[in-house]
Amino acid sequence: MSTLRVLLAALLCLLPTGCAGSGGPGEFPEGSTMDRIRDRGVLVVGIKFDQPLFGYKDPVSGRITGFDAEMARLVAKDLTGSERNIRFVETVSRERENFIAQQVVDLVIATYSITAARAELVTFTEPYYSAGQDLLVRVDDTRIGGVSDLDGKTVCTARGSTSVERLNSEAPGAKLEIVDAYSVCVPALLAARVDAISTDDTILLGLQAEQDRLRLVGKPFGQEPYGMGIRKGDVVFRDHLNGLIARWLRDGQWDRAYRDTIGVYRATSDQSKPAHR
Ligand code: GLU
Repeated sequence: MSTLRVLLAALLCLLPTGCAGSGGPGEFPEGSTMDRIRDRGVLVVGIKFDQPLFGYKDPVSGRITGFDAEMARLVAKDLTGSERNIRFVETVSRERENFIAQQVVDLVIATYSITAARAELVTFTEPYYSAGQDLLVRVDDTRIGGVSDLDGKTVCTARGSTSVERLNSEAPGAKLEIVDAYSVCVPALLAARVDAISTDDTILLGLQAEQDRLRLVGKPFGQEPYGMGIRKGDVVFRDHLNGLIARWLRDGQWDRAYRDTIGVYRATSDQSKPAHR
């Protein structure tokens, strides 16, 4: 604990609320990432800004909403004592590994699937959410009922995602329109410049929620376990985050985050909640 922290803790005891059980952050190993973030007083999180229900920046209020944002706030609360001590940095799919390696952010919580290739570059927590890849099409388009109908069709998806890789393997006959962010695909789909958008069902559900002219096909064709990504090899931080995730899965915090975000559109969380650990 730094001298400043000790002083601050002592000062807190003089306040009417006292020091015991004040809800402040806990003790962390000296020099750990948790210790550094607590001393800095702010958690820096890489997140999506254009994915309603997961990571979305409200254009009017500027507030970041969604399940990933809720997870981030819980981490900030644990490390700094308040969920308000947080700075969100927009992180598109293809920037996630760079932002972690260059320490632009402390961690990435951005519909980030755990894969062996990515684990060469970053360290992942255990999964905190389980998604699946699906398709979004126009409501009046009856040609596409699943991944096997994509031969000769144009499919929009994002650079640096697992969605591209799975489309290449599962729908080799599809033509891919690869852009920087999934929200860019929506006007293209509405204007029939592409036939479908493909990525995680979570993201597609959020895009569809704003557009009654679009339909989620509802036949997931691959598992996407989401992890929080941190600097490669920071196992002390990873273990701490794993402890938090396991607790939220048990104590109702996970369920509350689900209910307040994606749960508004999808009642059951059975498919999405990783098994209790
Ligand atoms: N979860 C997938 C991935 O990590 C697709 C969604 C995204 O690009 O954020 O690549």
